[in-house]
Amino acid sequence: MEGRIHSLQSMGAVDGPGLRYLVFLQGCPMRCVYCHNPDTWDFSAGEEISSDELVRRALRFRPFFANGGGVTVSGGEALCQGEFVAELFAKLQQNNIHTALDTSGMYLDLSVAERVLNHTDLVLCDIKFAAEAAYLAHSGGSLKRVMEFLSLCEKCSVPVWVRHVVTPGLTDTKEEVEAIIKLAKKCATLEKIELLPFKKLCLTKYQSMGIPFPLEEVPECSKELLESLSDLIPTHLR
Ligand code: SF4
Repeated sequence: MEGRIHSLQSMGAVDGPGLRYLVFLQGCPMRCVYCHNPDTWDFSAGEEISSDELVRRALRFRPFFANGGGVTVSGGEALCQGEFVAELFAKLQQNNIHTALDTSGMYLDLSVAERVLNHTDLVLCDIKFAAEAAYLAHSGGSLKRVMEFLSLCEKCSVPVWVRHVVTPGLTDTKEEVEAIIKLAKKCATLEKIELLPFKKLCLTKYQSMGIPFPLEEVPECSKELLESLSDLIPTHLR
């Protein structure tokens, strides 16, 4: 089967354990205000590649996959091409390659997601906001759907790392982060919570695409703010 990819990155170190071969899939129906990959939104852009070809390319990096490394599929929204990801992950697992799915958890056909999870060793899932209204207003998505997806991860016994972008003025309060932690802990297979800093490296992408960046005037998240909020996360989940 062929999937539509945005890009490949050979040695990522922040999207899952160890060193990762990163596959960014093309296409996302959401519009998160802080999205730093607007060039992945268009479902008709990017290029097609077969699962066999991706496995072949990933296998070249096998020597670097010690210490828990492997392949992470991200996006765009990876679950929009769920059938392709399920096939790719099955083939990677046949080759003893660790598979991680990086998803918003918002776009959800539960039956397709379950087929993906059956071949997934780790899920990286955002909880972007702690309230349904904020999800709708700032991403076009739904917290309820994310929580349904996390329940499915639990049912499929897939370990989960929850991630949350700390955006000044939007998601940077102690109360917001505590609420995110509470939501994340509802998932019995939760292993880790990561806070990520809001950055504006994407600004030039928006400008070159002629799309206004909604958070252009918002300051980046400082190291001090990120560290103080990260202290709220229980030690065993860091
Ligand atoms: S789900 Fe991810 S790729 Fe899609 S708009 Fe949100 S941040 Fe961007």
